Amino acid sequence: MSAPTIGGVSVPRGDGTTVVRIRRGASLNDFADRIDANPASLVTVLFHLGEMATVTQALDEGTLEALGGELGYVVEIVSPEDEDRELLESFDIDLDAELEAEGDEDLQPRPPVVTVMGHVDHGKTKLLDAIRSSDVVAGEAGGITQHIGAYQVTVEHEGADRAITFIDTPGHEAFTAMRARGADVTDIAILVVAADDGVMPQTIEALNHAQAAGVPIVVAVNKIDKESANPDKVMQQLTEYNLVAEAYGGDTMFVPISALKRTGIDELLEAVLLTADASLDLRANPDKDARGVAIEANLDKGRGSVATVLVQSGTLNVGDAIVAGTAYGRVRAMFDDRGEALAQAGPSCPVQVLGLTSVPRAGDTFLVAPDDRTARQIADKRDAAERAALLARRRKRMSLEDFTEALERGKVDTLNLVLKGDVSGAVEALEDALLKIDVGDEVELRIIHRGVGAITQNDVNLATVDNAVIIGFNVRPDVRVAELADREGVDIRYYSIIYQAIEDVENSLKGMLKPIYEEVQLGTAEIRQIFRSSKFGNIAGSIVRSGLIRRNAAARVLRDGVVVGDNLKIESLRREKDDVTEVREGFECGIGLGSFNDIREGDVIETFEMREKERTA
Ligand code: GDP
Repeated sequence: MSAPTIGGVSVPRGDGTTVVRIRRGASLNDFADRIDANPASLVTVLFHLGEMATVTQALDEGTLEALGGELGYVVEIVSPEDEDRELLESFDIDLDAELEAEGDEDLQPRPPVVTVMGHVDHGKTKLLDAIRSSDVVAGEAGGITQHIGAYQVTVEHEGADRAITFIDTPGHEAFTAMRARGADVTDIAILVVAADDGVMPQTIEALNHAQAAGVPIVVAVNKIDKESANPDKVMQQLTEYNLVAEAYGGDTMFVPISALKRTGIDELLEAVLLTADASLDLRANPDKDARGVAIEANLDKGRGSVATVLVQSGTLNVGDAIVAGTAYGRVRAMFDDRGEALAQAGPSCPVQVLGLTSVPRAGDTFLVAPDDRTARQIADKRDAAERAALLARRRKRMSLEDFTEALERGKVDTLNLVLKGDVSGAVEALEDALLKIDVGDEVELRIIHRGVGAITQNDVNLATVDNAVIIGFNVRPDVRVAELADREGVDIRYYSIIYQAIEDVENSLKGMLKPIYEEVQLGTAEIRQIFRSSKFGNIAGSIVRSGLIRRNAAARVLRDGVVVGDNLKIESLRREKDDVTEVREGFECGIGLGSFNDIREGDVIETFEMREKERTA
């Protein structure tokens, strides 16, 4: 490694192929650590690349890569999954190796895990109730059912008792929220469609979500007790969405039911098992430490953290040290959905767990750790990693411009879009036009979800999972959703003219959409008096005339309206004797412009920042 200077500082350089592996949300400190450099010198290098960051600030992927590129390193960003894997490996827990080591003889059949989805009022809740009360085992044992987020029923199928686990939170919102956290718990989706109402927007939304996750669907055609029921129409409508009934030559099972009258429930459960047996290999090793997912959790006044977890493999025991996301603890007690205490829970079994020190989030994975201390250490490290990642995510995840750039670097070939509009006609027109864009074979456009109505939390979650850009046509998100998008770094584009949306997407696909930056003035200050400092050079005693002056902002100096110094930076900013980050209009301050000393009384210091310009109408 040589150490030539960049921007006046010396940094150890790679040879253009030296790989630096670094986690999301790493800071300059972390980067410096990897390449054995002085963090402060990296601040300078980054500044010459046009970005400003402190040594501890979390950086996004693009910035880390640009910095690495400049210094001759190939930056590999460790994915969240890899990061967690490496974290666990540092504790001698290797989940992949564990799975690989499992032979056929270790694997036992496990019950399918089912989520019920569909349009509002089509009977999801009623169906979940009906299924639950159909349980042969519960019928015998009695007991008071409680909502813990999931339940298991046992049905007779081909002469044997078979269990099925149901996620007891209807709807695809929870499903997608969990997926956004990397947890694929659902094996099969039951899509409930009311036969008197037919396919509705959320029906489509739900099936989009299930299909995006590659989860097989069983259709429950509900409310067939109603006179206005038209099950055939439902079948017909759904063929348009690749759900073709067996009667029409497809392989999707449609079961007519009445959740209200509790008819067709056995047939529906039968269909779930048949679909599972036909298309899935549902097996897990029960003889090891438990691994799984938290599906619901809350803080109970008397009992503390109460979490419902779904065991995915292994067996969970009372007394086990566990870590779920950033929560940890020891399993003090376990209960099933009838409030009965359990000592053990095997694969696909949902149980309520007491004993965690804090509340995990739905979708957090959990695992049994060798001991309490390890559990705590894993939780602490995850917490730190998460915080860093959150900070970095504040920056954009994927925007149309990023796509252009990533395309050029050959890193992506599919642009995922979520389309939302005010009327279905507009959404359809937009979708049609977008799908007609011809940009050759290298790039592909995928519309992973379309719908009518405001941009919802769910849309943002979906965009998060699939790195999609959201196109809003005459619709907007509410504040909460906009905040979520911002936090997750999801790009939402607003349009009111279809061809503009098409033009942007087309340009992006062709790799032609470059961000437009505009200069935004932050403020001006007039120099009143010059102080000479041997340490800092000349300090401009100034009064802020408009806006504000911010430390580290880009600056230029004007004399009688003519630029006499450009590409400068507010290197130091003081009020009285104190270093400050910004000074507002009307206040006096001392400004240092680094090595630029050609300032006079009466000069105006103008500060500005480069902001990405909204291209949309
Ligand atoms: P969800 O919003 O999908 O959870 O729907 P619900 O389960 O809350 O049901 C919505 C309404 O439809 C309720 O008034 C139910 O009583 C009614 N409903 C649900 N299933 C049936 C059914 O099979 N037949 C009839 N006639 N009504 C039903």
